[in-house]
This record gives sequence, C-alpha cells and structure tokens, in this order.
Amino acid sequence: MTKQRRLILEIIAQSKDHLTAEEIFLKARATMPSIAVGTVYRNLNVLCDQGFIGRISVINQPDRFDSKPDRHHHLICSRCGKIEDAPFDGIESYLQSQTEREITGYELNVFHLCEACRKAEQLENPENNPTEQKTDDIK
Ligand SMILES: [Zn+2]
Ligand SMILES: [Zn+2]
Repeated sequence: MTKQRRLILEIIAQSKDHLTAEEIFLKARATMPSIAVGTVYRNLNVLCDQGFIGRISVINQPDRFDSKPDRHHHLICSRCGKIEDAPFDGIESYLQSQTEREITGYELNVFHLCEACRKAEQLENPENNPTEQKTDDIK
C-alpha cells in the first residue's frame, strides 16, 4: 500500500463522521502537503473496490466515505446532510422474505432532521412549533 493510500485510510478510520472526498483531501493535505486531489479520488475508488471502506451515494450530494465497509444503514439529515449510522435490524431478512430470489444488494437512505437542525428550525419558525399555542386560535 502506498503511503498516500495508507494516510487516506487512516483519515477515514479515525473520523467519526462520514467524510466527503473534499474533506478527506483537506485533511490529507494537512499531513502531506504535496498530495494532489486526483490522487485522493483515485485512492478512494481503489479502497472502495477492495472493500476497505464503504461509499455512500446520496442524490444531489457528494459521495461520502465510511470506515465500515460492511452493509449498514444511514440516517441522513435532509437539511445539513449529516450522516449517522442507523440501527435498523432485520431489514435484509425482511426484504429477503418478500422476494423469491436472493438479494444481491440494496440501498436504503432514510432522511430526517438531525438534532441541531430541528432546534435551528424551531428558532427560525417558532409558529411551526406544535408545543406553542397560536394566539390566533384563542381569539
Ligand atoms: Zn442537520
Ligand atoms: Zn456508516
């Protein structure tokens, strides 16, 4: 493994977030200033193909890279794009039970509002907060 590839793998393994290629490039450059963005993209593809890391594709967003290559599910914030691992058990066996052929793969992205965005939305739109009574209704 080249030292560039090892560095990229380390960055992904040490991050608790699901990083974009851009974020990985910026972190890699902090350690190895000569690294080129094309090198980062090429190594990310190789690491995905070889099963060292996982790739998460979300429509209208850059791909993210995951230190856990085995199949698991993600909760994605529809506002800020933050991705968390989701503890959904039994989905694969459910899907398998619904089809007569062996499932060779599937993609499941579940969207929600993360904690921070839920708070931010309540601050921006207090009238959407169901716990606050609307004064119009009382009149
Ligand atoms: Zn969010
Ligand atoms: Zn993940």
